[in-house]
Amino acid sequence: MSPFPRADYASLRVYDPGRRPTAVDLSDNTNLWGPNPDALARIRAAAPDDVRCYPEVYADTLRRAVAERFGVAPECVTTGAGSDDVLDSAFRAAAGPGDRVAFPAPTFVMAEELARMNGMTPVPVPWRTALADPRTLLECAPSVVYVCRPNNPTGGLAPREWVERLLDLAGASGPLVVIDEAYADFARESFVGQATERPRLLVARTCSKAYGLAGLRCGFGVARPEVTLEVEKSRGPFKVARLTAEAAAAAVRDGSGWVERTVAECLTNRDRLREELERRGLRLLDSSANFILFAAPSGSAKQDAITLREQGVQVRPFVDVPDLGDALRVTVGPWPLLERFLAAVDRLLATTRSGGSRPGAEP
Ligand SMILES: *Cc1c(COP(=O)(O)O)cnc(C)c1O
Repeated sequence: MSPFPRADYASLRVYDPGRRPTAVDLSDNTNLWGPNPDALARIRAAAPDDVRCYPEVYADTLRRAVAERFGVAPECVTTGAGSDDVLDSAFRAAAGPGDRVAFPAPTFVMAEELARMNGMTPVPVPWRTALADPRTLLECAPSVVYVCRPNNPTGGLAPREWVERLLDLAGASGPLVVIDEAYADFARESFVGQATERPRLLVARTCSKAYGLAGLRCGFGVARPEVTLEVEKSRGPFKVARLTAEAAAAAVRDGSGWVERTVAECLTNRDRLREELERRGLRLLDSSANFILFAAPSGSAKQDAITLREQGVQVRPFVDVPDLGDALRVTVGPWPLLERFLAAVDRLLATTRSGGSRPGAEP
């Protein structure tokens, strides 16, 4: 009998993204143009049985909506309570305790957390090393290779040919390759089209970002039927709530074109924000997502995030990012919000560049 608590959980922490209620929250990459109106309409039209009854065991209506949208068969679609749930189930379907999960780093923190939650060993490989040769991701003989594309928090898009080479190397008997496409709508680039052709590929998507449904907790994955079947087993039944599934299906169909319109406006604003940051002499990384990562003006991401929050603007700090050092990630939203962000940045720059420090600031 194992002792409680389990020893490998000693270093795990409960998740704290460090968010506080802030007037302008640009810290979590959700769709800032609002909730998805088609999804909201479906929830407002809720019938008593939407609440009283269990949902579909394996969310078949949502699977069909995703299948139709992406031109695959419903058996190629799996779903979950957020794409975190899809990633979690996919990891567990392909790897057991003690097995390795390799990924280019830095990346989405949940990749490492989910591996450790499942008793697996996370193996981070620096992006530069991984991009030079995808074989470096396979050196530890992993059971899962996780690639976030576009990557969170850097915004970079791993080249298509590089991913294809990785998939070739994984072949039909190598690790399961999980491509996290949480931000693919903003890159207008995807591997969903290959997901049903490659034997060891699962593409994960979320409804939390472009689709504007973070509060509903819904995600999905696309892969060959024999892969999705294993993920369905690992995830278990009844995971997607009735109203969530219905609302997500409406968002996936995007009958009103709301997702498409807000994504288009986001891309325009991303270019514009990039120019504004560059004009202020701030170093930043190229982004294919709905956020931009830029060097912390004072050199301390944590301090700058606090300073901006005091001015009512929340961004997400990252420590020690390759090529940038300490950095801040800002979500791209409607321009009036970004204007408030830029005004706060200007005040931050004024103090930083005059060499002064705010009253009460840590040294
Ligand atoms: C936000 C995000 C997700 C979304 O997770 P959900 O559980 O669907 O809300 C997944 N992957 C990445 C890289 C993200 O940034």
